[in-house]
This record gives sequence, C-alpha cells and structure tokens, in this order.
Amino acid sequence: MKAGIVGLPNVGKSTLFNCLSNAKAQSANFPFCTIEPNIGVVNVPDKRLEKLEELVNPQRVIPATVDIVDIAGLVKGASKGEGLGNQFLANIRETDAILHVLRCFDDDNVVHVDGSVDPIRDKETIDIELQLKDLESVEKKLDKAKRAAKTGNKDAVKEEAVLLKVKKELEAGISVRAIDLSAEERKEYITPLQLITDKPVMYVCNVDEASAAAGNAYVEQVRAATADENAEILVLAVGTEADISELETYEERQLFLEDLGLEEPGSSKLIRAAYHLLNLHTYFTAGEKEVRAWTIPVGATAPQAAGVIHTDFEKGFIRAEVIAYDDYVSYGSEIKVKEAGKMRVEGKDYVVKDGDVMHFRFNV
Ligand code: GDP
Repeated sequence: MKAGIVGLPNVGKSTLFNCLSNAKAQSANFPFCTIEPNIGVVNVPDKRLEKLEELVNPQRVIPATVDIVDIAGLVKGASKGEGLGNQFLANIRETDAILHVLRCFDDDNVVHVDGSVDPIRDKETIDIELQLKDLESVEKKLDKAKRAAKTGNKDAVKEEAVLLKVKKELEAGISVRAIDLSAEERKEYITPLQLITDKPVMYVCNVDEASAAAGNAYVEQVRAATADENAEILVLAVGTEADISELETYEERQLFLEDLGLEEPGSSKLIRAAYHLLNLHTYFTAGEKEVRAWTIPVGATAPQAAGVIHTDFEKGFIRAEVIAYDDYVSYGSEIKVKEAGKMRVEGKDYVVKDGDVMHFRFNV
C-alpha cells in the first residue's frame, strides 16, 4: 500500500518528500530507507510504541511503515501526454491514496507555473488532468460494454448505464469518488477500473512559517472549495518543516516546534493521516527481543494479521492471544494482564482491533 504525493510544479512536493523521508524529523531515531529515488518507506509515528518500549524494554523497536511516492511533473496537459504526463499518470494509478499538495504561501522568489498563487485554480488544474485520464479509461470500457449490450448481455446493459453516468460526471468535472453510485455499482463496475479520481484523497496546504499553526486565507479557500468532499485537510509549513528536520537533536527540534505553536512535526501528522487514508491500522507484538508495530488493513482477521509476520503463521493458524493496548498499559506487563484474566484467546474469525497486542499459536 502506498500514497502518492501530487501537485503542480513548485508547490513543495519534493521538499515535503525529503522531510518525510528524513528520520530525524520524527521523535525517535528509527532508520529510514529509500527504495527508489522517489519512493520512501516512512515510519509511522506512534506514541503507543514508545509506551510499550518503556514497559517491555526490548532489544529493538520496529515501527509500522507506509510507502510514500513523490510523483513529480504533473502539469496542465499531462493527460494528453504533455511533458512526461502519461508516465506520471501511470505512476499515480499504482498508488492507493493521493496526497494533493497545494501552494498556500506567497513568496516572489518561488515561481508559480501559472503566474500567481491560487490553490483552488491549482487544484482544478490537477483534478482536470486526472479526470481526463479516467475519462479515457471509462470510454474504452464503455465501448466494450456497448458492444456486449447489443448482443443482449443483461449485465453489459447495466454496466453501460453505470459507465455512461460516470462519463457524464467526469465530463462535468466531478471526480469518481464523489459520484453518487450504489455500493454494488461501484464494486461491480468501477472499482475494477482502478480509476485515479476514485482513490481516497487528502489535501496538504503548504503554508508559510507564520501560518503553520493557524492556517491562512488560502487554507480557508481550500476548506470552502472542498467542503462537500469529506476529505481531510492538513496545514503544513513544508519549507519550515524541512529546516526543522535538519536540526541535530530532538530537543532543538521540539524548541523550534514550540516556537511555531506546534506539538509535533506536521510531517508526523501527515504520515499518520496517510496511514488512515490507506485504511490501515496497527497491531503490536511485544517481547524482550523486539517490540514491533505491524500494519494490517482495517477489518483483517487474526489469521490474516498473523500472515503479515509470515505466511506460515496464517496457514497453520490455531489461535491468537490478545491483550487490548489499554489493558497492557494499565496492568503494566503481560504477566499482570494474564493474572487479572484480561488476556483473551481468539479464533480464526476474530477481527483484529487497532492497538491489540498479539501472540499467535500455529502449527508448522
Ligand atoms: P515541487 O516542484 O512541488 O517538488 O516543489 P519543491 O519542493 O521543489 O519546491 C519548489 C520551491 O519552493 C523550492 O525552492 C522550495 O525551497 C520552495 N518551497 C517549498 N516549500 C516552501 C514553503 O513552504 N515556503 C516557501 N517560501 N518556499 C517553499
């Protein structure tokens, strides 16, 4: 699962990517690795992991991660192959969620591709390119459905109707995620197309340093323009965050943040929000060797969760021993939780909850 950073040139995407991928920006010294120049595996900041570390005192701590891709070069005309447009759009298609960066800062030294700062116009420029690309996919599929419908295929008749509706909405500038469709219509005909504007989106308003805590008039414009999208809006002073991430010590970074009126780096908030946008959550394993956060899709069952550690764990799954995070912390240790009778034994249908501390029993 990965989230892609999109936006017009010069809005601060690569600066954001670099500060996300700078482990120093986060509260603990977890390693960071870059798979490819524009793909980063970013640690998900989680206070619960620090708490478990305190209680268990393990040899090592391994956080959950999320993959972030910097998708540079999206410009007006990209859907028609302008610049390297089509390549970038193909990269976006491979992501599972979109972090849309909008320039909400004035700075005459940073050129704007369209000559002035206007986050709403910028958002539309990007949205239109993505919608045009989706329109291409929908039209292709629609042609096929039409032909099949002519032969009397009932399913194709339904598909044609749904695709026609989606085509009209896209032509009117509506993103697929906002189109009113039944769950079944989506599942049958739309989800398989992996349309770009169907992916969950979050807006990152890149503001100047003085607006880091409270936002500014541009941010308010973005809020107003996206009010009916039900999307999260994150206010981030990307340039300042990058400066903070360069500071050597945790204390220095905290001081800088306090000056700005922030409790933690905005990048930490962003990573967590991206994790949620991807519909992921976390369970923990906690032993003397290792305390670790594992990533699972919301709704994953105990065997599926075990499978994230090792496929054999899933195949041979017998049962899981589960301690709720709050119980672990209030009793202070696994033994005390057991003594209090608060450890549960769960079977293969158990849906793992965010924060569960788990042991798996399995056959090999
Ligand atoms: P990208 O093309 O979207 O990847 O943009 P970059 O991250 O390369 O940023 C473009 C320029 O804007 C660079 O010179 C950055 O230093 C500058 N920049 C990025 N974020 C901010 C910000 O929050 N405030 C100001 N003033 N400049 C910024």
